[in-house]
Amino acid sequence: MKTSAARLLLAASLPLLAAANAHDARHHHARQNVDAAASSSVASASAPAASASAPAASSTLLPTPTGTIPPVSLLATNPTAVPLTSIVVNAPSAATSQLPTAAAAGSVPSNIPSAPGIPAIATLAPANYPPLDKPPPTDSPQVLQWIQDVQNSGVTIPSFTPTVAGGCPANPAAVSDSTRCWWTCGGCTRKTDITTCPDKMTWGLTYDDGPAPYTPDLLNYLEQAKLKSTFFVVGSRAISYPALLQQEYLAGHQIAVHTWSHPSLTTLTNEEIIAELGWTKKIIKDVLGVTPTMMRPPFGDIDDRVRAICQAMNLTPVMWTRISPTATFDTDDFNIHGGVTSVQQVLVNWENILGNVSTINTGFIVLEHDLFQQSVEVATGYILPDALAHQPAFRIVPVSECLNIADGDAYIETNNNATNPLPVTGTRIKIHCMI
Ligand SMILES: [Zn+2]
Repeated sequence: MKTSAARLLLAASLPLLAAANAHDARHHHARQNVDAAASSSVASASAPAASASAPAASSTLLPTPTGTIPPVSLLATNPTAVPLTSIVVNAPSAATSQLPTAAAAGSVPSNIPSAPGIPAIATLAPANYPPLDKPPPTDSPQVLQWIQDVQNSGVTIPSFTPTVAGGCPANPAAVSDSTRCWWTCGGCTRKTDITTCPDKMTWGLTYDDGPAPYTPDLLNYLEQAKLKSTFFVVGSRAISYPALLQQEYLAGHQIAVHTWSHPSLTTLTNEEIIAELGWTKKIIKDVLGVTPTMMRPPFGDIDDRVRAICQAMNLTPVMWTRISPTATFDTDDFNIHGGVTSVQQVLVNWENILGNVSTINTGFIVLEHDLFQQSVEVATGYILPDALAHQPAFRIVPVSECLNIADGDAYIETNNNATNPLPVTGTRIKIHCMI
């Protein structure tokens, strides 16, 4: 049981970020996504809170307030949370948990008993994949085949020219062309985009950019709290940490695509987009034995050209909830590591998200990351314990579950084509033939 005396009062030690880079496609992680100045503590001070995972906070966590960011109050924190004063840019690297050893080949996640067994990752040869964190070449036999598959899909790809680096200010024509439906500049979405969970008080939990050295800490917390998440995986990280990716999948988390080298997809040619998505699908299939049916565009950078290519590759885009230009459900946790924002501001962002949750008639999806130590520490120490203590209780589940589809529908090989038709019928037929 939680008492008001145990509330954690936080205040800022860094000034509010200007929104100067909010339109820079290369820095969308830095978007100032909430109007902090207009915010107040949205975790109701009188709301009863009870949770087995809602221990009292330690007063030693209080940072020095400067008055530049409004104080926030959390219903609960993790008793083993890293102090906020230590969740900072240039923080010394904490010891990492031991990475898992490879799971037994043939293992199957208990939540998808019909899944094919996982491959033996000892047979993976990194030399067979593109260089890490670089756009894959578009003239390899694999990419040429995927380009052909897209052409054969029957999906019409709009002929928009790629955008140029620099985001909205650098692309006035694309911004004014509403037929592009460019999310980055104006938040345009299509019905095919997943932007919320349909049921109120349901949180489609997601973490992007891993797997990475601090991911095991997040997985440990999620296991203790009996939570499952969706992980949007970067292909370059998947080939670097295949055993970790298998551990995520076998633990019942949803695995989805987040490109090979994390570019802004609207800046790429069709062929480059196909290479980014195709290689990420392939490495996940090679490590897990299954191919995701969902993707998240890095920085949320998607337009109708990117959407069409995703559709042709049987990938459904998953964004994060956005209810107004100043209320996107982005914690900005990614930017603590680089010193662009503070953990205090991230918690203000989180509380603003909670305030906005109460105003919408759907569930929600929040942008968070497991790439860096700092974002994992704020998630496991503060955001998740606070969410677990929320009243009324949130239903915290992977995106697939929040959509009320079967866990197997997250992958092409286990998708129920009768109840959850994939976008491209031809691929469905091919899958039937493969099985
Ligand atoms: Zn990302």
